[in-house]
Amino acid sequence: MPELRRDPVTGRWVIIATDRQKRPNDFRVERATLIGREHCPFCPGHESFTPPEILAYRQNGSEPNTAGWDVRVVPNKFPALQVEGTLDRVGEGMFDRMNGIGAHEVIIETPEHDRSFAAMSEADIERVLWAYRERIVDLKRDFRLRYIVVFKNHGAAAGATLEHPHSQLIALPIVPGYAREEIEGARRHFASKDRCVFCDLARQDLVDRRRVIAENADIVAIAPYAPRFAFETWLLPKRHGARFEEAPRQEYENLARLLKSILQRMDRALEFPPYNMVVHSAPFNEDVGDVFHWHVEVMPKITRVAGFEWGTGFYINPTPPEEAAQVLRDVNL
Ligand SMILES: [Zn+2]
Ligand SMILES: [Zn+2]
Ligand SMILES: [Zn+2]
Repeated sequence: MPELRRDPVTGRWVIIATDRQKRPNDFRVERATLIGREHCPFCPGHESFTPPEILAYRQNGSEPNTAGWDVRVVPNKFPALQVEGTLDRVGEGMFDRMNGIGAHEVIIETPEHDRSFAAMSEADIERVLWAYRERIVDLKRDFRLRYIVVFKNHGAAAGATLEHPHSQLIALPIVPGYAREEIEGARRHFASKDRCVFCDLARQDLVDRRRVIAENADIVAIAPYAPRFAFETWLLPKRHGARFEEAPRQEYENLARLLKSILQRMDRALEFPPYNMVVHSAPFNEDVGDVFHWHVEVMPKITRVAGFEWGTGFYINPTPPEEAAQVLRDVNL
C-alpha cells in the first residue's frame, strides 16, 4: 500500500510508493520509450495488456475490452495510489501519514498509435475531454477523495513512458500544494475585491491583447503575466466556472478547438516540443464556487528545470510572455 507522508517543515505531502513489486529496475522498464506498436499496451487488439477498462466510447457496439473503441479509460498498471482500503490518517509523533488511497487512471485518447493530440480532429479531442469529465463525475462520489488532477505528458522529455497518445487522471485524498496555492491566492483576491482573479485576468488581458495568443467564443489562451516556463500557456473559460466537470457542453467544444490550435502553434513555432498539460479545477467539498476558476495549463519543455529552480521554487524564464504570445499568435495555421 502506497503512503502519503507530510513533510513536517513545509507541510508538503508526498506519495511514497511502498509497493514491493516496484523496485528501481521496474521503473527503468517503465521509462523505456522504445515499445513499438507490436508491444504497445494501448493499441487496439492489445486490450488484454491493460487492466479491464473502466470506460470506453465505442461506435460499433463492440464488446468491452476488445478493439473498436475511440477512447478507452483503464486503471494505471503501475498506480501511484490504490483504490481499495481506508485512509487511516495517523500521527506518529510529529509526523503525519495516511494510506495512499486514490485512483490512477489512463485515458487512451485514440486507437491510432502515431496520432498526436495536436493532429487529432477537434471532435476527437472533445471526446477525450468528455472522458475526463465522465471519470471526474464518477470519482467525485467517493467521499474519501478531495481533488482530481488530469494531466498529459507528451514526449519522453516531459515524462511520457509510452508514445501512444494518452493522458492520466489522479484522484487524491488531499488537496495538493500547488492547487492549494492557487486556491488561496484566488481567495485573497476575492476577499479584497469581491471578484474572481481569473475573470479579472482574462478581462484585462483581452483589453490589453499583448499576452493573448488566440481566443474563441468561450475560451481565451494567454501567456500568463509571470510564467514559470518559456511559452507557458493558460486556457481560460471566459465565463466564470469553478469546476471543469460542470462546464457547459459548448465550452468543451471550444476548448478542444483552442487546444488544437495552441498545440499546432507550438509544434510549428517550437518544432514539436515535448509538453505537459494540466487541468486545474476546484477541489470537491470546498466552497470555492465564486473564488476559483477552472483552466488548462500547457507547459512546453524547452528550458530545463535545474538546481536553482529545485532549490528555490523560483523560476528563471528566458522568454518574456509578451514575446512568446506574439510568436504563437503569428503562426499561420
Ligand atoms: Zn499504441
Ligand atoms: Zn472567474
Ligand atoms: Zn492553474
